[in-house]
Amino acid sequence: MEKGKVIKSTGDMPLVKLETGEIVSCKLRGIFKLEKKKILVGDVVLLTQSTNRAYRIDKIIERKNELVRPAVSNVDQIMIVFSIESPPLSLELLDTFLSVIESKQSIEATIIINKSDLDRDQKIQEIAKGYQKIGYQVVAISATDESNLDQVRALLKNKTTAFAGPSGVGKTSLLSKLLRNEDLEIGEISNKSNKGKHTTKVVELFEINVSSFVFDTPGFTTVDLYEIELDELEDTFIEFREYKNKCRFRECSHIKEIGCEIQKQVQNGKIDKERYDRYVSFYEKLKKKDEVREKSHKHYKGKKRFIK
Ligand code: GDP
Ligand code: ZN
Repeated sequence: MEKGKVIKSTGDMPLVKLETGEIVSCKLRGIFKLEKKKILVGDVVLLTQSTNRAYRIDKIIERKNELVRPAVSNVDQIMIVFSIESPPLSLELLDTFLSVIESKQSIEATIIINKSDLDRDQKIQEIAKGYQKIGYQVVAISATDESNLDQVRALLKNKTTAFAGPSGVGKTSLLSKLLRNEDLEIGEISNKSNKGKHTTKVVELFEINVSSFVFDTPGFTTVDLYEIELDELEDTFIEFREYKNKCRFRECSHIKEIGCEIQKQVQNGKIDKERYDRYVSFYEKLKKKDEVREKSHKHYKGKKRFIK
């Protein structure tokens, strides 16, 4: 059996890159149809070659993770792209992206701040420092001037990377520079309010360097805070992790409780106050949603009893 990685999923005949480097079009074993199992771009698969040399996918190796939009699998890293200006950088949105990604299984988040050519007040450095301090890789680039793209390439090494970030920040521009592919529609995707149009686009996985793969899609432009469960929120703030279980109360929400280690670290400046405030705001939003959910659950139970 040979091993390969699905790089394009065009209906019934996905394209697979074999370990030898050869790219082959493959049939699927019947069982996939029976079980309604979909092959995703990013899947690592085992294949056999029949006598007429046609390849057939026999097995999907268990996925490390899977994203919904774009529908891809085995993502090692998400590069969150924001621009410093036009559109201006929203730290609240950046932290939402970070928290949602941290809540996913084994995906590393990296921060790219684009349009450094528009950074007249030199704001990028300060923002970058804050996030580097808590452990994130941050690269300030200009897709237009091509500055620091080498640093981005270095971070792609030996990983499968997807991109994310709001519309208009320059994801397509960056990707086309990385892929040297002029066919990507720069500036157009952001103008399309018509979502359907680019969700139907076929996602392709490109190998930039040996074993550095990049999905050729501007990725997801929004994230949903509500994907995070209330009790896992604290772990998505990576700078809180070293103080885990150090609060007086086990179920501490780190908001009003006495003997709270997180609040103490905010006061003594170890944890950034602005990031902490965002934690509180996320917590309150998620809590509200939980309460609504609980209420509707009770309502549902009541109804059931009524029917009985
Ligand atoms: P996307 O929606 O994130 O894919 O963003 P695009 O790549 O389509 O870019 C949106 C707009 O920003 C386009 O007009 C680009 O030319 C422009 N742009 C992209 N990168 C840069 C940059 O580094 N500096 C400046 N000044 N403009 C950029
Ligand atoms: Zn606490």
